[in-house]
Amino acid sequence: MNLIDRTGETRGITESRQRSRRTGEFIPIFRGARTREPGDIDSIVLHQTSFSQSARGNRIDRYDHTIAHFVVLPNGTVLQLRALETRLNSIAADNGIHIEFVGLFYDDRFTCRMLRRRRSRRELPTISQVHDGRELLVYLRSLEGLHGQLRYILAHRQITTMGSDRDNCPGPHIWYNLGKWAVDTLGMSSARSEARPIPPSWEDPRFQIPPPCDPPDSGRLTARGQPLPRPEGVSAYGFRKPRPEGLDFYPDDEFEIF
Ligand SMILES: [Zn+2]
Repeated sequence: MNLIDRTGETRGITESRQRSRRTGEFIPIFRGARTREPGDIDSIVLHQTSFSQSARGNRIDRYDHTIAHFVVLPNGTVLQLRALETRLNSIAADNGIHIEFVGLFYDDRFTCRMLRRRRSRRELPTISQVHDGRELLVYLRSLEGLHGQLRYILAHRQITTMGSDRDNCPGPHIWYNLGKWAVDTLGMSSARSEARPIPPSWEDPRFQIPPPCDPPDSGRLTARGQPLPRPEGVSAYGFRKPRPEGLDFYPDDEFEIF
């Protein structure tokens, strides 16, 4: 995991770049106390930024105003924006570690057909985000200062006070590959008191990354930027790519246009 410490750069930043719907002002990053007791931290909260991966890309200096402790970039780089004891203007302010995954991710209506048609602005988490995001969860669980008290892994939607506005935060792909993975593999729980349950539709294996779909094209573009079809789409005698197995099959750059 490539973990970059941005806590120095964010030290003087007090406003997000998200505007309040009510006042039109930038939402402050802090409200009330700016620190919290490390002993109160017991949950990891998963989010999606809800803007596309290409908007700010992998530029490590473009996320400093995000209200989060960590951001996982499209290439898997993990930015630590704030110390764990920083208390943010957010739900679970006293007990949650907030991780944002960069992307505008599909909701639970996702199908392989959507990937092939490419009509949607929505996208998938990259393999690197899944891989390095998992490493981040393991790393947080191993921290001495938290003394094994990090028991809960939550989807933002479970605890939001913003109703259906956050229904797709972080979305089923992040939940399936990180949240459910942490429950199954690290023994964490999503059943914190007062947290709503995860919708059963989010626990479907079709949300695996990489998706259990045939690749829609060869992963290459024409000079005019159009995706080239898979070789077997050109000729019945063309070379057939092997089917993807496991997490590391596609090189990241091929996957990101997928
Ligand atoms: Zn969220």
